[in-house]
Amino acid sequence: MRKPILIGNWKMNGSLQANQALMVRVLPRLRMFRKSIDLAVCPPFPYLFQVRDLLGYTGIMLGAQNASAFVSGAYTGEVSATMLQEMGCRYALVGHSERRALFGESNQEVAARYRSVQSVGLTPVLCVGETLEERESDQTALVIEQQLQAVIDEVGLTAMASGIVAYEPVWAIGTGRTATPEQVSAVHQQIRRFFARSAPEAAEDISQTVRIIYGGSVKAGNAYELFSLADVDGGLIGGASLHADEFGTIAGAL
Ligand code: 13P
Repeated sequence: MRKPILIGNWKMNGSLQANQALMVRVLPRLRMFRKSIDLAVCPPFPYLFQVRDLLGYTGIMLGAQNASAFVSGAYTGEVSATMLQEMGCRYALVGHSERRALFGESNQEVAARYRSVQSVGLTPVLCVGETLEERESDQTALVIEQQLQAVIDEVGLTAMASGIVAYEPVWAIGTGRTATPEQVSAVHQQIRRFFARSAPEAAEDISQTVRIIYGGSVKAGNAYELFSLADVDGGLIGGASLHADEFGTIAGAL
């Protein structure tokens, strides 16, 4: 019922030449999966145009790594959701932990970005997750629920049904330390329960239909185990999405 989705987040990596080389190698490895799963890559802003052309009609979609909460105007350095849509984006990440931690994006700011992404018809991919310190002090549920609640307060719960939630424990990002299947399952189930609690009358709809994907050191070697979990609907892949063979194997695991 929930179509699996795999998204590659290139972060601040790439060059015209490297992107071209990666796409030439990765597209043939992804093409065979495009009917059964949704696939997308999120390059840095300046390369959206190039990657859009390289993707062509493969059915693999383009995504952005962030979007402004503002529509247009004097916001130096910002990129609006409308611009992303014009560039051919279908998805935009919001609230990635690197944005929250390194660039001070608060829950409220993330929620405003979520709204602007959704308002132009793009699918927001809301990243949530706890730091190691928060996990060790038993605050995982609380932190994630606050991150989700800010978006519910901004757009309403029903609007979130058409978005995607990405659970990315901060301590598992780029560290090679993956959350265990038990940890991933527990948080994904907890997110579904939170949605169900938030809208008892529509619980079945939202908690069961919203796609929740996992990110954090997903590799060819652990993808099968993670993706076989009932509440995991796909992956948000950082480092491994820059390697054609590995990203192809991860797609095959979904
Ligand atoms: P890694 O796969 O490199 O751990 O990154 C995960 C991530 O942050 C994807 O958004």
